[in-house]
Amino acid sequence: SPAAPHQGDESPDAVLSRVFGFSCFRGQQKEVIDSVIRGEDVLVIMPTGGGKSLCYQVPALCRPGMGIVISPLIALMDDQVAALRQLGINAAALHSELPEERLDEIRADLRAGRVDLLYISPERLVSPGTARWLARNRVSVLAIDEAHCVSAWGHEFRPEYRALADLPAIFPDVPRIALTATADSRTQDDILQALGMEQARRLTSSFHRPNLFLAAAPKGSETRQVQDALAAHRDDAAIVYCGSRNRTERMAKSLRERGYNALPFHAGLSSQEKHATLMRFRSGEPMVIVATVAFGMGIDRPDVRCVVHLDMPASPEAYYQQIGRAGRDGEPAETLLLYGGEDMARARYWLEQSSAPESEKRVMQARLESMIALTETVGCRTQALLACFGEALEGKCGHCDNCRSPVETFDGTEAAQKVLSAIYRTGQRFGAVHLTSVLRGKLTEAVERHAHQHLTVFGVGKDRPEQWWRGVIRQLIARGAIRMSGEHNTLGLDVPVARPILRGETRLELRSDPLAPTRESGRVSS
Ligand code: ADP
Ligand code: ZN
Repeated sequence: SPAAPHQGDESPDAVLSRVFGFSCFRGQQKEVIDSVIRGEDVLVIMPTGGGKSLCYQVPALCRPGMGIVISPLIALMDDQVAALRQLGINAAALHSELPEERLDEIRADLRAGRVDLLYISPERLVSPGTARWLARNRVSVLAIDEAHCVSAWGHEFRPEYRALADLPAIFPDVPRIALTATADSRTQDDILQALGMEQARRLTSSFHRPNLFLAAAPKGSETRQVQDALAAHRDDAAIVYCGSRNRTERMAKSLRERGYNALPFHAGLSSQEKHATLMRFRSGEPMVIVATVAFGMGIDRPDVRCVVHLDMPASPEAYYQQIGRAGRDGEPAETLLLYGGEDMARARYWLEQSSAPESEKRVMQARLESMIALTETVGCRTQALLACFGEALEGKCGHCDNCRSPVETFDGTEAAQKVLSAIYRTGQRFGAVHLTSVLRGKLTEAVERHAHQHLTVFGVGKDRPEQWWRGVIRQLIARGAIRMSGEHNTLGLDVPVARPILRGETRLELRSDPLAPTRESGRVSS
């Protein structure tokens, strides 16, 4: 085989400092790297931002031959390749969006054995002849990034990943390293089985990020809440995640009006606009990016000090990944998740309506329910989050809202009964705003139109403020006693859950929400 591009006799520590300019390995990187260099197959479970890339980049440079990295995301591949080339490493990417000239260059480099690290999409690698052609080179390591894509248990399944089980036949004696940030043990087993790597060593890193302050609050006045969260970060970088493109535009505008350097980011922007925003973000200037989930891939600014969620993410995994963009430099950073009952009900409703395969829907539903439970938790939020990843934290974290000021709870059985009967008596055709008016005995136009002032439930909740009732409604949604009945955000009963509450057979412990600032306008958008 052709001469190796690098000598392949440098130690991991030497490569770390000479090539990457870092002084020490983080967490389990060294252990993973040593294991791969010894020729062992390894499964690496490390949270996003944990430093997975070095786990295969360093062995690829320490062992003789070329490292092959299988990655499903073209944008990410191109980013990595560009970064590596900056460091003087001959990295290349083979994928479907490559211009023809570049392809010829890469082929020539491969033939001459000049490539240190080759990134390749799974489609490309499994296309006939490609793997065998690559195997004519000496290969140092096979890295399978985003390895959870091989598992049908999850929504990122990529059928081409299944063919990666055949790699050992084509690349005998080349160590394999599979990497993922998905920690649940069922997926881990599935990954190893699908790749035929049952003997692999598993190295799991903690997902605990002690420098992140976690907080969540029921939605009140969003603009006010976002501003309060950002107030201490006027000279920092911050990210505000929104559920829709429109919302990013509106929130960015309203932050700009209040003197913030705020820009929207979503998939609907032109590539020039996106590029310009990214360049400014990367430049290190203080700014707020108001983004949809489209903002994330390849974002690597270490000094993001604050991440706010204006809408609840669909899973603890997504939540963790997004808050994980804060404080990558290890310095303290804070996060705030705003949530509302209607958001939860709507997310459930849309998932039910989705045409995704049943198995996939069930996984997504389970994740959504964990996310909902996480927002409502009265215990340590970090503990609850880590538990979603199968990790037990000993003792409370001390860096979440619930640790800082313990949540008070109250017996909410009677309040719940009032809400559920109000829903029932009004025919399960109204949203939270109207129901609250009925409970509080407010003679609104809608109440009069429907003659709801004559119902026995009218005014039974006079003694509590509107916001308090909205908190009860939200918690009943979270517990599944109330569901969204259609596209018009009307609330109905989920009878099997609601009935025992109405009959007094189930007692409900509810959380006392902290009193949020009063709303600006009459409308609560949740
Ligand atoms: P992941 O792929 O797990 O999300 P990355 O490999 O992208 O994480 O690493 C996240 C960030 O941490 C990158 O900016 C990377 O350069 C940095 N990093 C990783 N390992 C180290 C280290 N040992 N020392 C300093 N910085 C590191
Ligand atoms: Zn805590």
